[in-house]
Amino acid sequence: MLLRDQLRDLTRARFGRAPDQCDDRQLYEALLTLCRDRARALPAPEGERKLYYFSAEFLLGKLLSNQLLALGLRDEARDYLEELGRDLNAVESLEPEPSLGNGGLGRLAACFLDSIAALGLNGDGVGLNYHYGLFRQVFRGEKQTEEPDPWMEKPGWLIPTDRRFSVPFGAGELTAVLYDIAVPGAHSGRACRLHLFDVERPAHAPWNGIQFDKGDIPHQLTAFLYPDDSDEAGRLLRVYQQYFLVSAGSQLILAELEERGFAPEALADHVVVQINDTHPSMVIPELIRLLTQRGLTMDQAVDQVSRTCAYTNHTILAEALEKWPLAYLETVAPRLVPIIRELDRRAREACPDPRTAILDGQSRVHMAHMDIHFGFSVNGVAALHTEILKTSELKPFYDRYPEKFRNETNGITFRRWLEDCDPELAGLIDGCIGRGWRRDAWELEGLLAFREDAGVLDRLLAVKAANKDRLCRDLLARQGAEVDPMSVFDIQAKRLHEYKRQQMNALYVIHQYLEIKAGRLPERPVTVLFGAKAAPAYVMAKHIIHLILCLSRLVEADPQVRPWLRVVMVENYNVTWAERLIPACDLSEQISLASKEASGTGNMKFMANGAVTLGTLDGANVEIAQLVGPENIYTFGASSDQVIALYRGSEPDGRSYRPLDYYHRPAVERLVDFLVSPELLAIGDPVSLSTLWRDMKGKDWFMALLDVEEYIAVKNRALHDYGDRRSWAKKMLVNVAKSGYFSSDRTIRQYNEDIWHLK
Ligand SMILES: *Cc1c(COP(=O)(O)O)cnc(C)c1O
Repeated sequence: MLLRDQLRDLTRARFGRAPDQCDDRQLYEALLTLCRDRARALPAPEGERKLYYFSAEFLLGKLLSNQLLALGLRDEARDYLEELGRDLNAVESLEPEPSLGNGGLGRLAACFLDSIAALGLNGDGVGLNYHYGLFRQVFRGEKQTEEPDPWMEKPGWLIPTDRRFSVPFGAGELTAVLYDIAVPGAHSGRACRLHLFDVERPAHAPWNGIQFDKGDIPHQLTAFLYPDDSDEAGRLLRVYQQYFLVSAGSQLILAELEERGFAPEALADHVVVQINDTHPSMVIPELIRLLTQRGLTMDQAVDQVSRTCAYTNHTILAEALEKWPLAYLETVAPRLVPIIRELDRRAREACPDPRTAILDGQSRVHMAHMDIHFGFSVNGVAALHTEILKTSELKPFYDRYPEKFRNETNGITFRRWLEDCDPELAGLIDGCIGRGWRRDAWELEGLLAFREDAGVLDRLLAVKAANKDRLCRDLLARQGAEVDPMSVFDIQAKRLHEYKRQQMNALYVIHQYLEIKAGRLPERPVTVLFGAKAAPAYVMAKHIIHLILCLSRLVEADPQVRPWLRVVMVENYNVTWAERLIPACDLSEQISLASKEASGTGNMKFMANGAVTLGTLDGANVEIAQLVGPENIYTFGASSDQVIALYRGSEPDGRSYRPLDYYHRPAVERLVDFLVSPELLAIGDPVSLSTLWRDMKGKDWFMALLDVEEYIAVKNRALHDYGDRRSWAKKMLVNVAKSGYFSSDRTIRQYNEDIWHLK
């Protein structure tokens, strides 16, 4: 049936009028219903083995235009709406974004589902149906405040199912109800499912901000994604969420196994579970529990589960590796406790090194250790990250189980992150190399043939200029920010974390500000754009946001500086903002302290949209640098080896990092001291600014002062080079051409070949 006919039937039945009589809201609802129902009608992929991708987060972003694209309906929908005098973008803007994730890890899971569906692989996602996604960030008085972010509407994407499972908590059983989102695969004619579990009777708003009664588990378990865990009740709720997810998910796996006609004894032949970071780790003891309930011996159950589960590590930050007190598990999931004790006993037998134990001396359960001993695969997410895992963070495990370790460099779906968010660039690429890259991103390499083609290079610059104009209009409309579209757009958009070093970028802003005030004007105007949310309980991150917002106000108010330097922080950075910022970016800030960013995926999105990277040799930046060559990227900073040595205090002179050594350089001191200058104190909160100032001088745990001078020099070199428009366009072209490696289709094929073996 043609889209227009189905749309007409839908609007008649629902609103009693033809599409041309409908408002945007009604058209949106009709299009959503059309996509949802077509996607759910697609056949599921087939295969003897099935993947369950377990993740506490799926940062989906708006689904409408992506689903239209995957269903092959986007052009038809756009043209038809145009006939009606409507705009698909305006219709889609009515969709609330499902932000069921914090950042990169959840967005990765969403890209993976898109690729699994596109490749027609037999796999589904398993997660939780949070009623409120990540909080909505609102700036008040140069500070972040948090508000609830509801996303569920009727009609919506969720498809109710009849599946119900009983989850046995210590205090009693709770029923898990399953909802699905159908994920249509581009080109495959198949759809996989994102399974989202919910409690049976969720409590309804109103919430008091993002505070709520963390004790009311039966009704509030799925209220919020990763609630504030700065207190005991919040941490306990997190364990409740995790066990709810894995228990219901494990029961779903076994139910489907039975429906497919296989015995529980054959689990490992027919099921593979990918554990996305440690949050779903309890799937291991839970599956063992359920298998022994179904008559397997402990040995058999452990053997099956160990050949079913595979673990992805996403971080080397010690504080991010979960260790739950056994006492929590005794409250939440008492039936797992004897199993975990037994797994700890077996692990100690297999590997006497006490650093690899599951239970430590303080009776805490090391979730990653359980995953490594009782999973068959451990992967890092970029080449450098995997090397650091093997040689440093997880070395005792690597020594014991070298065969389990592998690298699977992250990727992004080019359907959302190029075709959909940058249609002008996509059209330009089509014109050069045809449309094949839309199926196979490797074909982007064909663009290299146009390196010397002045016409193509000029059009590339024109597309970028148009995207910058579009962003300017958005910034004005959404937050009243006026930005010069002719300035260089220098963008750092990602979660706020000290290791990502937004504070170092702020020091750059201070440097430029002081230079301009001293009458040394830069070569060209720059707009430094930030997008970042801080975790509600992460105090230092909030101080950094405060600093950036104060700098923004300072610069805005200064007629001498404003023409040369602008600072804009977008409010409520999310996938929707990312889709606007990334196509408009000239210079992509990827400046984490080397060794700390496992991979990054923002770096890949920016590259694919023709931004040039300014980055440290960290995470997947290393692979980007290898692909594009030194003339098409700006790198700087201490190497990961140097940083690791500094943390260990094992530099040749036995020295460890002391920020004061760097602070006392005159060029650095004036930047840091500006945090407590009269100019900033007149705008900002003195306690916040001076706390950050003291931290930077006295601790600077992520070594911003170590790299800041080189950072400023290299950034200014990039801004100089920007002036040679032809040569800059060539850099852009090479970046787009080489980005195909970072397609999540490639990543998923590789997971399948190395780990899943689905077909
Ligand atoms: C891609 C993405 C991220 C991850 O960004 P990194 O730079 O890799 O940390 C975070 N948030 C959103 C909304 C994204 O789209």
